[in-house]
Amino acid sequence: MLFDSHADFIKAGRGEYDGITYGTDRLPQQRILEEALRVLENAALTRVYPSGISAISETLLAFVRAGDEILVCDNAYGPTIRFCTEVLGKLGVQSRIIPPDTGADITDHLRPQTRLIFLESPGSLSFEIQDVPAITTIARQRGIVTILDNTWATPLYLNPFALGVDVSIQSVTKYISGHSDVLMGSVSTNGAHAETLARAYAGREIYASPEDCQLTLRGLKTLPLRMKEHQASALVVAQALVDHPLVERVLHPALPSHPQHALWRRDFTGSSGLFAFTFKKEYPDSALGRFVDSLELFGIGYSWGGFMSLVTTGRPKREFAGPLSGKTLVRLNIGLEDPADLLADLNTGLARLEDS
Ligand SMILES: *Cc1c(COP(=O)(O)O)cnc(C)c1O
Repeated sequence: MLFDSHADFIKAGRGEYDGITYGTDRLPQQRILEEALRVLENAALTRVYPSGISAISETLLAFVRAGDEILVCDNAYGPTIRFCTEVLGKLGVQSRIIPPDTGADITDHLRPQTRLIFLESPGSLSFEIQDVPAITTIARQRGIVTILDNTWATPLYLNPFALGVDVSIQSVTKYISGHSDVLMGSVSTNGAHAETLARAYAGREIYASPEDCQLTLRGLKTLPLRMKEHQASALVVAQALVDHPLVERVLHPALPSHPQHALWRRDFTGSSGLFAFTFKKEYPDSALGRFVDSLELFGIGYSWGGFMSLVTTGRPKREFAGPLSGKTLVRLNIGLEDPADLLADLNTGLARLEDS
């Protein structure tokens, strides 16, 4: 990029120029997307990053220093926990894992050096919900920063700032962009933490590409319609699975059987397309493979939130797995297909589990 005049160039050197000073940052597409997300989030400041995990790792780096301790909920996105233990650990920041359904009992986990609490509610694999307002009330009294990964609900169905959260994160890769063709993350803060985010962002120079911002802006236009559809279809599939003879429990916060359903009703205004279920029996990978491989409408893949339905299986190893300990979780991302077709496909696949 080029300046119009030497006077503009000198202004830019003084930090007084409002235009583009370099080809990596403050490009029009970045600014327009950040402003759209800031308004959607009800935030003071939003910055975008080239992936959800970079938004998370950059935020954690922005708010901690050597000697701090941070608390991370047990059901957080796996790479988030790995970054905390492997990278922050090397930098002298200790991470401790707290139960996935923590609330006012957060006080049991706080120490003088606790600087930050990282929440993900519901967790995107096992779907436990934290009592976010109970946690943020206590954290704010003690000057502890709270961060919430709000990818599951999006700002449409949960407003983290209304619950007292300081920093709200989206993997924009998922619902916000919505078409499985962009990797992007966003970080939004309230007024009190905007300066810290702005400085960290400028200091690290990790930028989202303008082409990806453009694609995300296009996806954003249909976010409310897509979310309505994901919500309705996932509920149809989840409710049908509750009655399936091989299924033990369906982990979906909007079902009354969910252990924190009351918190979901209190804090959220909707649910999305991602949930999981467990079986009454445990099956070997060979049987799970017959089920998963027979599905015609579900791709096998992790990166959810797009138009296409997906399936993954896993046996999470966690400190606070509770009743899920040792269980196989089948996670479904319900896309934009007809839910009756998805159910028929699942029923055919589930019938293959007990084949020998
Ligand atoms: C996918 C995901 C991320 C990471 O996003 P990427 O854009 O894939 O790096 C973070 N948090 C949650 C809850 C996710 O599902």
